[in-house]
Amino acid sequence: SHTVEILSVGTELLLGNIANTDAQTLSQGLSELGLNVYYHTVVGDNPQRAREAVAIAKKRADIIITTGGLGPTCDDLTKNVLAEAFGKKLVFDEPSAERIRSYFAKTKRPMTDNNLQQAMLPEGCTVLANDWGTAPGCAFQAEGVHVIMLPGPPSECRPMFQYRAKPYLQSLSEGVIASHTLKLFGIGESAMEAQLRDQMNAMSNPTLAPYAKEGECELRVTAKAPTDAEAQALLKPTVEQVKALFGSKVYGVDVSSLEEVVEGLLREKGMTIGVAESCTGGLMAKRLTDVAGASQVFLGGIVSYTNQVKAGMLHVPQHLLDQFGAVSPEVALAMAEGARKALGCDIALATTGVAGPDKDDWDNEVGTMFVAIATPDGTHVRPLKLGSRPVRARLRTQTAHHAFDLA
Ligand code: ATP
Ligand code: MG
Repeated sequence: SHTVEILSVGTELLLGNIANTDAQTLSQGLSELGLNVYYHTVVGDNPQRAREAVAIAKKRADIIITTGGLGPTCDDLTKNVLAEAFGKKLVFDEPSAERIRSYFAKTKRPMTDNNLQQAMLPEGCTVLANDWGTAPGCAFQAEGVHVIMLPGPPSECRPMFQYRAKPYLQSLSEGVIASHTLKLFGIGESAMEAQLRDQMNAMSNPTLAPYAKEGECELRVTAKAPTDAEAQALLKPTVEQVKALFGSKVYGVDVSSLEEVVEGLLREKGMTIGVAESCTGGLMAKRLTDVAGASQVFLGGIVSYTNQVKAGMLHVPQHLLDQFGAVSPEVALAMAEGARKALGCDIALATTGVAGPDKDDWDNEVGTMFVAIATPDGTHVRPLKLGSRPVRARLRTQTAHHAFDLA
């Protein structure tokens, strides 16, 4: 299989003026293509050191992708060095020159002869036309190595990879790579890995890759096959197996979030949802409205941070607040029921808890949370002990996750 080296050219990267986001973008895209990136190399705008870096990359990679150094200001360092390393001449490419001329005409900027230098490209290369800037990219194969050169500005590098380099790379790979992402909630990454370890070690196609993400887990199943249909056929049994293994902890496949799944289910059933939030302070409403088409199912929310608002707006009985305190299962349930009535929704979620930094007046530890749900069929509350170490923001995220999970 192929091994890729990303070679970023630019002194500004070495000086620490900018982060190498081009390498990050490319690495993400390449791993989705199933190509192994083994090295990120950064070299300054210095021909001698760039030559050395290319000589090393040539030996250990069979795909070299460069970023930067294509502009008129760098004396075409990247193209010169790569062409020389593979014994190629730079030749004038008239179609590229024409594109550059019309780019300057369109943007009404003055053009210098330097700009036309950018139309000098390695002989016999595939030109990667740049619709997002002036410097064209290029690709060629020589001495068993594929070389792809992309411009440095991220606003050009990103689309040039997506629309120019990717199709070229796809034609190199022997088949298609397909993947599905399972989303899990209510299990830690290490527990998930422990349960999958034997399987993961035994499998080579498809492969399993677990990730932890803000209190949730993802499991990506990837298969390689000559056609998409064959890849899907390989994926299916593994996806089913993993779903069976983790049961209801798997909340979706190829979905973006818990709240999206919740809204999808409610939409199917023609039901509506609303929220009453204390400790999450509007986070649930924000997340529910982040989903496209939310207005069909999400009616609204009440941020009832104080007892006054809990009693006034949600009609939480004063004696519950006095007897149990705001952070209690009784109040969480009353908030959910109150929100259901006040908002006129089918389902209401409520959160109350101590997000810190200190204990509350009732001596509840930081991380003590209650999430409650009220439905036409009754109510339910889930107590949470999230620990005091996570910061406020994480506690709130976790609490919201749990509330959506309840729904
Ligand atoms: P130009 O035609 O704009 O000169 P170029 O291909 O020569 O393009 P550079 O001159 O190396 O690219 O870089 C242009 C700008 O792009 C830099 O000032 C920097 O802000 C950004 N840039 C370059 N390389 C990277 C990188 N690896 N990651 C993120 N940004 C980069
Ligand atoms: Mg530069």
